Amino acid sequence: MIADVPSRLLLDGDALVANWRWLAAKSGQARCGAAIKADGYGLGAIEVCRRLAAAGCRDFFVATWAEALALGRMPQGTTLSVLHGVRGGDLAHARAGLARPILNTPAQVVRWKEAGGGPCDVMVDTGMNRLGLSPQEAASGLLDGLMVETLMSHLACADEPAHALNRRQLQAFSALRQTVPANAYSLANSAGICLGADYAFDLTRPGLSIYGGVQVPDMEGRIRQVARPEVELLQVREISAGDSVGYNATFTAERSMRVGVLNLGYADGYLRGFSGQGRALAGERALPVLGRVSMDLTVIDLAAAPDLREGDHVTIDFDLPRASHQSGLSQYELLTGLGRRYHRVWS
Ligand SMILES: *Cc1c(COP(=O)(O)O)cnc(C)c1O
Repeated sequence: MIADVPSRLLLDGDALVANWRWLAAKSGQARCGAAIKADGYGLGAIEVCRRLAAAGCRDFFVATWAEALALGRMPQGTTLSVLHGVRGGDLAHARAGLARPILNTPAQVVRWKEAGGGPCDVMVDTGMNRLGLSPQEAASGLLDGLMVETLMSHLACADEPAHALNRRQLQAFSALRQTVPANAYSLANSAGICLGADYAFDLTRPGLSIYGGVQVPDMEGRIRQVARPEVELLQVREISAGDSVGYNATFTAERSMRVGVLNLGYADGYLRGFSGQGRALAGERALPVLGRVSMDLTVIDLAAAPDLREGDHVTIDFDLPRASHQSGLSQYELLTGLGRRYHRVWS
């Protein structure tokens, strides 16, 4: 059955768990959670959640209530929190106990209290100016009477360890911890875990690096690649010197060459930035992308793999730091853009 699917996303379950364990060890005494929003960064949230829960992860995060609903029943002993909090239309799901809201605004706090309160998390903005109460709002008494499970904030520049905002956010969050009661405090995302033990508090919230993202030198050689697209060669052709390839004829052959047409394009998250930059791999052999990536098709140079035939499969070089460099896309964009057309195959 799998053999009939022209594009697969090969997902390395051992690497996924090993990455989480490495981040958990780096988190020291703090529990290590997992952000599984955006369908587990494109890999498939249900399967990611099941595997990480089996490895001991207890604290999961999604962005929206729709994502919480899509997860269905959570594994025994785990909790799920919804980062976007509780909008008016979310109240029914939140009251049904599907997950814990992460309250972000005074209006959300009031809404949750008026609906009867109950366990919740609270996001405080310590300098990113994205979601969250201001430190003043958090310390104003607004939260009195709420059962705050986790008080959290989010780092804006954790992937730039030397950035001064990291320490300013750490100081602001440490001050909040003295004044706003909660059962647990949480600040660090993936890169934040590598900033130092004082960033871990009680709970860390990695996402990207669980899925193979490498943003800081500490992670090099330790965080393993999890996702590898594997796609079929739909056609093999010989082209001659002077022939061009693809839309707008941006590649012209200097000599006769053998090229392959892949079942892969920007509708599969292989965006146009890979045009003339990306590469497929046949084992160790690199097969460069020729010309423009189109919606469903990409052409590669088969010079290094003369044995390949129509119907064979190649993997796409999707090492995240390298693919990010090739395409100009962030490692987050690469994963979350992968889309629905792959058959996701876990090993
Ligand atoms: C997405 C997200 C995370 C995970 O961040 P990564 O950079 O992917 O590790 C943690 N906390 C919050 C609030 C987030 O939105």
